[in-house]
Amino acid sequence: MTTGLKRRTNNIMSFHYKDGYLYCEELKVKDIQEQVPYSPFYLYSLAQLETNYAAYQKALEGLDSIIGYAIKANNNLNLLKRLSALGSGAVLVSGNELKVSLAAGFDLKRTILNGNGKTLEELSLAVEHGVLINIDSEFDLAHIQQTAKHLDKPADVLIRINPDVDPGVHPYVSTGMKNSKFGIRNERLDWFLNEIRKDNLLNLVGVHCHLGSTIKEVRIFRDATEIMVAFMRAIQAEGFSARYLNIGGGLGIDYERTGEEIPTPSDLIDSIRDLLPEDITLIIEPGRSLVGNTSVFVNRVTGVKTNGNKHFIVTDGSMSELIRPSLYDAYQHIQFIEPVDGVAETYDIVGPVCESSDFLGKGRVLPTPYEGTGLVVCDAGAYCHAMSSNYNLKMRPPEYLVDGDSLTCIRRVETLDDYLRVFDV
Ligand SMILES: *Cc1c(COP(=O)(O)O)cnc(C)c1O
Repeated sequence: MTTGLKRRTNNIMSFHYKDGYLYCEELKVKDIQEQVPYSPFYLYSLAQLETNYAAYQKALEGLDSIIGYAIKANNNLNLLKRLSALGSGAVLVSGNELKVSLAAGFDLKRTILNGNGKTLEELSLAVEHGVLINIDSEFDLAHIQQTAKHLDKPADVLIRINPDVDPGVHPYVSTGMKNSKFGIRNERLDWFLNEIRKDNLLNLVGVHCHLGSTIKEVRIFRDATEIMVAFMRAIQAEGFSARYLNIGGGLGIDYERTGEEIPTPSDLIDSIRDLLPEDITLIIEPGRSLVGNTSVFVNRVTGVKTNGNKHFIVTDGSMSELIRPSLYDAYQHIQFIEPVDGVAETYDIVGPVCESSDFLGKGRVLPTPYEGTGLVVCDAGAYCHAMSSNYNLKMRPPEYLVDGDSLTCIRRVETLDDYLRVFDV
């Protein structure tokens, strides 16, 4: 039984090895693999999720704040319900995420709708539910105004600013630079303020930025916060009672496992604490750093082969279930879940999908496994299941949650019938 957050904060053992076997909390992953009727699957540790949330709560102690979990990182409804029960707010990038956050019990007054291409339908939902809305461009502002007018309801808005601080990350996950597709042109700030002032249905309640993802230096957040506080002061000097300072998400996690120091939520908040004015509510939008390390993606080895001078481990999981390596050349640690005593080789770990970009990892030195050996891709809780597809008609895999010594299916596997149903037209 769960005894609450307190137990979780000291020395949790989410994923760890004992006698050569990988465990998730108290359960041996190999036993779970034998019990689960489908491979591959995602496996989560509830203790890790609660620990990660508690670390943010602790970091924010003494500050008026909202932890806005970025739902796009992982939208499993069961996990969302757990996060909303812990008091988390939500960060949304679509109307469907808004509907799902309602179903998960999030307080929509503590949610924020982001996006550079919000549709009128999405904006209507947001205005109806009192969701905070980020203004991303001139046309986005016009659409928000049109929606508020149509519904004759006020809308609480934040301006998304580009602090133009280089987060030093992969260009695909860098979002706050001058030439980004997100946010307003800062030279136009006065124009935006005038438009908002003229519209009596719009309340400018704050400023927002999101620098990017996988950030490993808190200095970058500090630089951005300095700029954002100055923006906020300028807006307040214009007579707006802006109260929310939203510094976005983006904290990296230890994918590489090289012993490098990764900043914790406390490192992040402590690095900006002295910059924060008294009268504000701080919003942070963690996705990856809340859920990334809560999960492993569990595969079976289908076989081992050699072509030319390359050695391959072929797994049943692929880019269809976990695309980050193929999409961003991202590194995720790969290990066996059981003792393997074969000769060590340098392997590419690849899936069965007909696409040369289909790999889970490259150039990994591993002992030669057997057919059926269990293999996990680590840190698979963020942007993995959420980005899965049906490519090659692979089915979106099931998800399981461990809490202590109990295992629960929190999402069943998608079936071919699910796929066929969309053709019942
Ligand atoms: C994706 C996103 C986040 C979450 O980023 P992480 O790197 O997962 O923490 C936060 N805010 C916005 C606006 C986003 O688009």
